[in-house]
Amino acid sequence: MLVKVAIDLALDRLFTYEVPEALREKLAVGQLLSVPFGHRTARGFAMEVAAGAIDSNRPYSLKPIDSIVDEKPFFSGKLLELVRALAAYTAAPVESVLKAAVPAAVVKPNARPKELYFVEPALGEFPVSLTKRQQWLYDQIARLGGGWMQQLCRELKTTPASLKELGRIGLVTVAPRQKRRDPLGGLRRILPTKPLPLNDEQKAALAAIESADKPVLLFGVTGSGKTEVYLQAIARELDAGRGAIVMVPEISLTPQTVRRFASRFGEKVAVLHSALSDGERYDEWHRIRSGAARVVVGPRSAVFAPVRDLGLIVVDEEHDQSYKQDDNPRYSARDAAVLRGRLEGARVVLGSATPSLESWMNVERGKYACAAMANRAGAGTLPDVRLVDMSDPKSGKQGGAIFSQELLDAIALRLDRHEQTILFLNRRGYSRSVTCAACGATVDCPDCSLPYTYHQADDCCRCHICGGWIPTPKVCPACGAPALQYKGIGTQRAEAALAKCFRNAHILRMDADSTSRKNSHDDILSAFRRGEADVLLGTQMIAKGLDFPNVTLVGVLNADSSLNMPDFRAAERTYQLLAQVAGRAGRAELPGEVIIQTYDPSAPAIVAAARGDFAAFAKDELSARKECYFPPYCHLACVNLRSKDMNVVAAWAEMYSKSLMKVKGLTVSEAVPSALEKAEGWYRWQVVVRAAAVSSIVRAWRWIVGERPPPAALRIAIDVDAYNLV
Ligand code: ADP
Ligand code: ZN
Repeated sequence: MLVKVAIDLALDRLFTYEVPEALREKLAVGQLLSVPFGHRTARGFAMEVAAGAIDSNRPYSLKPIDSIVDEKPFFSGKLLELVRALAAYTAAPVESVLKAAVPAAVVKPNARPKELYFVEPALGEFPVSLTKRQQWLYDQIARLGGGWMQQLCRELKTTPASLKELGRIGLVTVAPRQKRRDPLGGLRRILPTKPLPLNDEQKAALAAIESADKPVLLFGVTGSGKTEVYLQAIARELDAGRGAIVMVPEISLTPQTVRRFASRFGEKVAVLHSALSDGERYDEWHRIRSGAARVVVGPRSAVFAPVRDLGLIVVDEEHDQSYKQDDNPRYSARDAAVLRGRLEGARVVLGSATPSLESWMNVERGKYACAAMANRAGAGTLPDVRLVDMSDPKSGKQGGAIFSQELLDAIALRLDRHEQTILFLNRRGYSRSVTCAACGATVDCPDCSLPYTYHQADDCCRCHICGGWIPTPKVCPACGAPALQYKGIGTQRAEAALAKCFRNAHILRMDADSTSRKNSHDDILSAFRRGEADVLLGTQMIAKGLDFPNVTLVGVLNADSSLNMPDFRAAERTYQLLAQVAGRAGRAELPGEVIIQTYDPSAPAIVAAARGDFAAFAKDELSARKECYFPPYCHLACVNLRSKDMNVVAAWAEMYSKSLMKVKGLTVSEAVPSALEKAEGWYRWQVVVRAAAVSSIVRAWRWIVGERPPPAALRIAIDVDAYNLV
């Protein structure tokens, strides 16, 4: 009997071992094994078991495996199928997907928590000859109802030996017990919540989820009560003896989110996320595998949770970019959820107020069903949204052209009323488009209608889709003003300008700089919630999932900064951001107002976001995508290359680009330096490949890399269905 084992070396190959007689009965695929590897032992997963005899033509004999680490498989057959499919799709080694799928804390040797001794008072008759001290110890233990050996020793100032002696004479029982490390700790004690009576939209959504034979897009505005629908759909699965997985973006995996699930399902909930300690993760994972926990809440890796009899997978905020992993394996957890649902016959619900255009198109094509919820369920109404045209001289720009008079007046009103304001400024690091300070226009590639990216090193503007470039213009191509700028306004500058306009206002700033200290993210938000500041000014960090009852004004300082990103998803992201930011206002009794400043008040994404009309935006944007051959009308992969040697990376990028261009059915860009041209001493280049199917891109890429393997000085990676083109 032979077994093929995946060892965590990312060599993209399985190793074959023999199975010793004694282990043959017990061996199963998905188990964690210990195997000899070179001069050491390694751990790996059993991927295939073959009855076949050893090939007698082999010049050497196969080594036997050492042992089965855990007889219970880590992966069911279906989960292994999912892992293999994702590895094939993302062109990643299967080992890297396995690694992403199980927490390291569960696999590594000595991961099992130390067994601790628990001491409990025994029932029954006691021998008479106790010392005073023993009598006292027994009374204390009986009073406490028992406890952990270590803890009792500390509290009762005694030793393990004395407690064991009590055990020997039958006063207490001393037995090893696994102590559970519970990340939900105190959260479990909160009062259980009862299902709310659903409104009509929610009832229809729940019915659609129950009756669908395909994934359901739950398209519900912020606050429409999607979470309550998830909770009730999960409850029905639990009643039927099935389990569920709820995926949430890492950033919204806050105690509030977890509490909503824990207070409905208590002990049945397990949480998996990156902030857990190894011990907590170990215990939660084992509670899931053993079936003690039936509902798993977690970020993208939760899609691999070993839930048995899986009935439902919920992907909340399905459009969120964090579902795409930007490191190997570059899988999309949302797409993985859909695939797992299909493999295991589980329902899949994708929820969002601003669905991804990929999912929206799947609804239009009939691959997904759709349930819509257009109204808020609880308190609060959708806010009133206004656009301010910053290119209009009448907008009365102030504070270094950052604020319009209209926005300043609205802030002043809030200060008077002691209500709070959130100001939102979106600016992303190094990726720079060239914009005109006078008219707001960007300098665009005529072929792709996307902004060029400014490359400081050789002072030119390059298109990252087709590879075309122009020398950086001196004046704006649209209005002729010599006012081109390469940088957006930063939050610090905006904060300073605002402080000048309102000398008595308390302003809190939240961006990557102000939150680098651990916990400062939560500190800032709690301070704002407690009313310690009038204005919260921040980057996209503040756009998501936050609920502040006293916020009645949300201002977007420059809606165009995300619109002008050199990325074909710029409009989609702008819509999502604006819709989400707008969702922050007026969540409680106080009505909300949203003011969006823009140089481009007729941009479809901005107009549609102001009206909250997702369908109109999607229609417009999809037709633009179709015209330019962008996803979801094709699949796009980004080949990333890096080297410490500038010439090596450039020459190989060009070679790969030229080779890919020869493959029929692929649309391939020229090789270009990435927007982030150099990072940590590595020069970075990229090639963008588009095709109708991912498989044809991956096949061509694997073939070319096989023919022309990269030299040691070059690192290459392919990012299939890439989200990040910098
Ligand atoms: P979403 O997840 O769509 O943003 P939530 O589930 O957070 O919406 O619901 C928003 C608010 O509405 C919450 O405070 C929730 O308790 C309340 N809510 C949801 N469903 C109902 C209902 N059927 N009746 C009353 N209140 C509800
Ligand atoms: Zn172009």
